[in-house]
Parts: sequence; C-alpha cells; structure tokens
Amino acid sequence: MSVVASIDGHQATATVTVVAAANPSGLDRIVANPSSAPLVALVDGMAGSTWRSDTLITFVDEGLLDAFGPACAGAAPCGEVILFGATQEVGYIDHTSQAEAAVTASETDIGAVNVTARLKWSSSEDTVTFRSVRLRTETAWEPLNSPIKVPLTVWIAAAGGTLTGTSTADAECPPDGDLVACVVSKHLDVASELYAAALSGIVFGATVMIGDPTDIAFSLPLALGAGWKCPVEVRSQLDGIVASAGANPMVVFRKSSFNAFYVQGIRKYVGENPWPEEPPGFACPPDDNGVIIMVAWAPNDYATLRHELGHALGLLQPSAGHTIGLNGFDASNIMWSYDSPDVTAPRSQLSLGQAFRLSAHDSAWVNRAGLRAGRTKHCQESFQADGNLQVDVPCPRLGRQLVAPP
Ligand SMILES: [Zn+2]
Repeated sequence: MSVVASIDGHQATATVTVVAAANPSGLDRIVANPSSAPLVALVDGMAGSTWRSDTLITFVDEGLLDAFGPACAGAAPCGEVILFGATQEVGYIDHTSQAEAAVTASETDIGAVNVTARLKWSSSEDTVTFRSVRLRTETAWEPLNSPIKVPLTVWIAAAGGTLTGTSTADAECPPDGDLVACVVSKHLDVASELYAAALSGIVFGATVMIGDPTDIAFSLPLALGAGWKCPVEVRSQLDGIVASAGANPMVVFRKSSFNAFYVQGIRKYVGENPWPEEPPGFACPPDDNGVIIMVAWAPNDYATLRHELGHALGLLQPSAGHTIGLNGFDASNIMWSYDSPDVTAPRSQLSLGQAFRLSAHDSAWVNRAGLRAGRTKHCQESFQADGNLQVDVPCPRLGRQLVAPP
C-alpha cells in the first residue's frame, strides 16, 4: 500500500509492504475491521512482572500484542486497549477489573447490540476485537464508533481589508471579494487534515455564514478559576453578527451548538486595571451558549482555528490545554501557545493522548454534547514532583505521540 503524508502543501509518498507473521504461541492478539491503512493501538497490561503502559502497536486487520497476564488485584489496573483507526473510529476497551459480560444465545446473532467483555488479560492467549458489526464467531468485542461529525458553523464578520499578505492561504486565494471565504475554507481544510491525521475520530461538517465586519472586545478577570465562563458581553456582540447574517441568536446559541466567528479583530482586557491584548483567537469554555470560538482576521494564520478547536473540543487542562513545558511535546504540537520558528511545521500535530481526550474523555465536548456513543473515561491530570504529568494514569499519557518529535 502507499502512505501519503502531506502538510501545508508539502507531500511525500511511502510504500509500505505488510507481511503476515506466524502467531507464536502465548501472545495476545488484536483484531479489527478490515482497513486499507494501518491501525494504531495503545495497550496497557502486565507482561511477566512488568507493567507496560501505552505500548504502541500498528497493524492491519490483526496484530500481535504481548503475553499479557492477570494483574487485577483489588483496584489495580488490569489492562487497556485503545484503537485509533485510520478511518477515524476510536475504539476503547476498559481498564478496570470487571467480570466478562455473559453472552446469551440470543446475543450471538449478528447485530446484537453492545455485547462487551471488559478487558481482563488471562494467562492464556487473549484476543481483543474491535468491530463495527460483530461477527457470529466472536463473543468478546468492542463496538467501533463511527467518525464523530462536529456540526461547525463558521460566521465570517471580517471584510479582509487588513490582510497582511503573509499567510500561505492568502497567497493561494484570489485577491477579490471572495478572499475571506477562500482563506477561511483553507483554514477549515488544514484543521480537518490535522484532526484526521491525528486519528482523533473527529470530522467537521462546516456551514459558512456571512455577517457584517466587526471587532469583538471583552474583559476577563486576571485568574480564570474552575467553572469560569465567557462574559455576557461576548455573547451580546456575537448576537449582532448572527443577526446581521439574518439568523436568530436564540436558535444559534444552544448548549449543543458549535460556532466559530471570524472577526476583524479581538481585544481582550485582563485584570482590575485592564490592558488590551489582541489575541489571534480565543475559545470560550462550553456553556449554555454551546461552543464559541473567535478568530481574528489579522493576523490570520493556518494554526489559529485548529488550535482553538482543540480548546473547544476539550483540551483545557492542564495549563489551560497548552503544551509548552509539558513532557513529550515540542512547538509542532497544535496546543503550543504560539507559532515558533524553532520547528519546521509549527502547531501541526496532535498527540494520541490528546486525540483520546478529544473523543473518549468524559469531559470531551463530543461526549458532553451527546454526539458520541462510546464509553467514556476520566483521566487524572495531576503533576508529579518533577513537573511532568503523572504517568500511571488510566488513560494514555497526554504526550504519547503517534510519531515522536525529532
Ligand atoms: Zn490556546
């Protein structure tokens, strides 16, 4: 098969030959939907006397794991397998010690719903199965979720008169009246490419609306404690944009809505004696208004929308979701706070740990909005004494990468 990698207009193709291996006895296996591209799994379990965490496996159709054995003493973890599919399904088998669900005769028919066996490695060969539809012969399986479609509405309230001409997207778009819509569609394209390449399980179904050009200004307290919300003045200013586009704000802003606003400029005032900042983008934490993202037209760049989408979809902790200083990250990660010249492709990657938190974490927006049917999990995000995130958490490490930074 051929694997094509592309980023910001650069592209390369590699040929991958998959050779089936004989199955040495004693090894556990993973099986999944037939796929035209390799699948990736992160696996936890006790192999011999060693606890293996976040072991990365790539395979097509079927893969070998390790000789994982029982390790379920009390609340101790037993095992965990997370599948990241090239077609963007994210499957997830649980970690905790639970008895296998009884499979009754009626449930062995194809199409039986959600007959799952929680993963508990045995001392013999185990097979972990992920399927969209369970095969008759398979009794222990995990339903694979379809890609989660986020219904994103993009409101353009910017005329493009202050273009700097430095953005790649600007150069690719004709300098006429459609410039803003063209640039925004490029930003949407690269955002979709990023979330697909990261195997996040998330795709965007975007609708674009045009309103009157405007700036947005709002004030924030110096410290944003837990449970903070965007101030009401944000909502009232955005109501004006929605109304100028001929839509009804009462319908647009709902708990499950997902809206991004391209505006001329953003001015954010912070603290008791507020001073203005002009951030390129800002994401409000989801609340009764749903998700609200703001992107400033100038300066505009490829990374701002996809960065704010990361916040809005659930990357809000630790460090407000930013990855500067966190173990396992460099400036190529999308949640780096700014475009750094230190890497060739700034803010172009999502880690597998982040992809998991965007889909299976209980605080992920797709779960809070009821868009995803799969089971969820709460990950600890506590810090160790050395400042790194705790590693023995029951979820993939935040910094676990598909491809390690160079
Ligand atoms: Zn940010």
